[in-house]
Amino acid sequence: MNEIYDIACIGGGIMGCASALQMAEGGIKPIVLDQGDLGQGASGVNAGTLSLQIKRVKLMPYALRGHQEWESMGDAVGFRKTGGYTLAFTDHEAELLQERMRLKVDAGAPIEFVSNRVLNQAEPNLADRVVAASYCAEDGYANSSLTGQFYRAKLKQQGVQYREGFKVLGVEACNDGYVIRSTNSSVKAKKLLLSAGAWLKPLAALMDVELPVQARINTVSVTERLPMLMRSVIGHATGLLTMKQKANGTLLIGGGWQGRGTPEQGRGQIDTDSLRSNLALARHVLPALEYARIARSWTGFEAHVPDFYPLAGKLPGYEDVFVLGCVRGGYTIGPYIGKLMGDYILERTTELPLFDPGRNFVEVVA
Ligand SMILES: Cc1cc2nc3c(=O)[nH]c(=O)nc-3n(C[C@H](O)[C@H](O)[C@H](O)COP(=O)(O)OP(=O)(O)OC[C@H]3O[C@@H](n4cnc5c(N)ncnc54)[C@H](O)[C@@H]3O)c2cc1C
Repeated sequence: MNEIYDIACIGGGIMGCASALQMAEGGIKPIVLDQGDLGQGASGVNAGTLSLQIKRVKLMPYALRGHQEWESMGDAVGFRKTGGYTLAFTDHEAELLQERMRLKVDAGAPIEFVSNRVLNQAEPNLADRVVAASYCAEDGYANSSLTGQFYRAKLKQQGVQYREGFKVLGVEACNDGYVIRSTNSSVKAKKLLLSAGAWLKPLAALMDVELPVQARINTVSVTERLPMLMRSVIGHATGLLTMKQKANGTLLIGGGWQGRGTPEQGRGQIDTDSLRSNLALARHVLPALEYARIARSWTGFEAHVPDFYPLAGKLPGYEDVFVLGCVRGGYTIGPYIGKLMGDYILERTTELPLFDPGRNFVEVVA
């Protein structure tokens, strides 16, 4: 344990990796540590939807810049800008859609309302009972299973060290920073970035700080290969559905339906009732799915705090320990907010404000 890194990023998901790359670009020497493989957490199992229509209004400036980052990453992450429709099937859903989308337009998202004729021309296989629909040409998707290999290659290219299979079990302060201990080895760094996603709470507890991090257990399913049924990313006014069909014909279905389990237990389990409801909604929107077979369903842990805004700043009580996580739609925003976090640690002025992890959290309904 001779080398002393400038900073250790604990958690090699999109947040930890994007921050490390920015810090390396700024001339400091980070190391990324992950308990498993890079991108094996939420960043590697999510639905890959990059949709401004499902982003929180206050996070829109971050999401708009996130979209630019994805576009620049291109094919290496399976990026496709397909455009996206959000659909309402009842008057109540239509009201909800109008209300939500207007706020997002005011926040800068290029979303428009479209007629049934326009929708039907673009996506003829969708159910014809649509009452209202919105469209965003910026929406699309990326392939989350490429996250780990993408960032591994980028870190190597920029000469950033990373250790996979390095589960952080203890952190001790020493003269020139911190000793970070795993089972059989340790690493020394002057500063720390805690970027452990749904595992942030136990990690911060190692530093005697209690962060109010909770985890949602989102479900995603993929169908067998199907004839081409849709070209755009499709969502539902309630936010309970996302669908996209990949070039190979498989169709990915998400929408935040809940499974069971805790981050400490591992990957979580499917809740069959919840999965059935998710698939029924998908069939309602795309009737041809009635005859499609689901090849696989899985779950992943998405972290949040009571006000559903990110943790991005200094760990309360520490000047040299930082936290980044709990970003709603964190896959979309990750590459951008990671850069912001890197800039903050480099003591540069950040383009947009961060989110103080020491704030008073006001409970809101998601
Ligand atoms: C099923 C699912 C679907 C989603 N769909 C979308 C979507 O369509 N669009 C969108 O924008 N967002 C989506 N999200 C949210 C998005 O995936 C997350 O917000 C984002 O990936 C979080 O990134 P992260 O780096 O903070 O966390 P993670 O990717 O979870 O990374 C945290 C890393 O920390 C490591 N770690 C934890 N504890 C330790 C420790 N003690 N020592 C070392 N390493 C440790 C873990 O192994 C993990 O790799 C979805 C999330 C889930 C779960």
